[in-house]
Amino acid sequence: MAGSRRTYRTMAALRTALLGRTTLSVECRRLEGIEPPIDHVIEEIRLRNHAIEVVWDNGVVLSTKLKMFGSWQLHRRGEELRRPESHVSVMLDVGQWRAVCYGASHVETYRDFDVRRHPMLGSHGPDLGRDDADIEECVDRMMEYEERDATIAEVLVDERVLTGVGNVYRCEAMWACEVHPWATIGEFKRAECRELVTLMCETLRADKLGVGRVSRAVYGRQGKACMRCGDVIKVTHHGEANRVLYWCPGCQTTHQPLTRPNFTPAYVDRDATRGDTHPAAQIFMDEINARRAGNF
Ligand SMILES: [Zn+2]
Repeated sequence: MAGSRRTYRTMAALRTALLGRTTLSVECRRLEGIEPPIDHVIEEIRLRNHAIEVVWDNGVVLSTKLKMFGSWQLHRRGEELRRPESHVSVMLDVGQWRAVCYGASHVETYRDFDVRRHPMLGSHGPDLGRDDADIEECVDRMMEYEERDATIAEVLVDERVLTGVGNVYRCEAMWACEVHPWATIGEFKRAECRELVTLMCETLRADKLGVGRVSRAVYGRQGKACMRCGDVIKVTHHGEANRVLYWCPGCQTTHQPLTRPNFTPAYVDRDATRGDTHPAAQIFMDEINARRAGNF
């Protein structure tokens, strides 16, 4: 089924229903690998090695290979399963939608980026998800970051610097601090590093407490106007980990580099329409709605 029209339609529909949503629960049958994350935002739906993959903003990937009659289907909240429960391989709940994978031959999870696995690699940085996280230690690790020409966007997802914070908070903090995502870490002063880390930490905690559900300035807003400068928000893949990066070229200009950073793979602008407005997604959703209408 790899690459078939049906696969792409399914992925478009999954993107529509899941991207940018927080995961409330995931149940997997015969899962190989770590437990999929809850309370994390779904960042990507992609096809890799004939498997449909769900990627969370903390870099955890759920990979599903389907049998001949396997499929991913979307159910509205409260809607009954369409196949017997014994066929369910994965059930992923984001509140408004339940995405159900029926008939997978293989379900596994893995980490998308074990950052530059290296024997010389030091210990993990503080876990910002903990209330007693040591912000100053994160700042120390940024100031002592060995590769001084690494970009700030990369440093902020490096587990040697800090852990426990997803990509949503990285993108939002860089926007809030008006920092250019490709600014090199060597340019940053201690106070600037502290501001970034503190912001990530505070936003994470506010989100966890559900305090007004902090609205997002850039994350998931590609193609929309920046609320600070009015420029168009962009989405890019960036860095060795190739994570999705949302940013505003209009106002994130602090420490803007004069040249492109010298690493591969090159960043690639993604098609801004790949989100919820994808025509295939629309067709799929129309079909679902029509089917539902017929049921009543
Ligand atoms: Zn802007």
